[in-house]
Amino acid sequence: MLKTVLSYKIAPFSFRMIKFDIITIFPEIFNSYFKESIINRAQKKRLISVNIHNLRDYTSDPHKAVDDRPFGGGRGMILKIEPIFKAVSVLKKSSRQSPKKTKIILFSPRGKKFNQKLAYQFSKTDQLILICGRYEGVDERVAKYIADEIISIGDYVLMGGELPAMVVIESVARLVPRVLGKSELLKERIPSKGKGFVEFPQYTRPEVFGPKKGEKWRIPKVLISGHHKKIEEWREKHSKTIEK
Ligand code: SAH
Repeated sequence: MLKTVLSYKIAPFSFRMIKFDIITIFPEIFNSYFKESIINRAQKKRLISVNIHNLRDYTSDPHKAVDDRPFGGGRGMILKIEPIFKAVSVLKKSSRQSPKKTKIILFSPRGKKFNQKLAYQFSKTDQLILICGRYEGVDERVAKYIADEIISIGDYVLMGGELPAMVVIESVARLVPRVLGKSELLKERIPSKGKGFVEFPQYTRPEVFGPKKGEKWRIPKVLISGHHKKIEEWREKHSKTIEK
């Protein structure tokens, strides 16, 4: 009897688990971040799973080469297509979700700009395969034939796709129910009109901070007025809605 009740309760959550598969040539980059953060707790609760795969493990030549020189000349190296194709094929098959919704994401500064709307879309999938570029980039055929989405996290050039992968995982994971400690926390930030997240400035104690003699940095008085309607108005006035 108890068993039936338990499995009934657990089923919906295990179904909603999102699997993140990261393909990188620098797997160690992720260690400390994923060990310390809410992401680690979310994994222990089996709400998400984050798996890091070394691209080198998917090479088939004796030198385990993941990169080569660009056709047409130029400086730097380009990540080769073969190991990426192999890694993606293996990881797609390894997903136990059925029927599964998998999205293959390639990071590039030339990609579609990442935003909250995309984070929502990604949070509805079962598996995200994240391909991190390095050096001078990735053979363009990965974008053309393998990836479902080419994503940029902003108009600047980084050294690799590892930070973008962490950005995407963090913003997607916090939308998965129960990842943030309190579900009310998410609800509180959903605007009454429209969709998205409301972000507004916040303060905590002390009420007055004196960085040096004669100087006082105060908090807006309305926040300690106890006047809920006025507080709400103040927050609305100073808020920014991050569009869904
Ligand atoms: N010349 C390459 C960029 C090389 S930067 C090009 O035009 O695509 C090396 C890698 O870092 C890229 O392959 C990409 O995976 C990652 N990267 C750099 N800047 C990024 C950004 N703003 N958003 C997402 N990924 C980025």
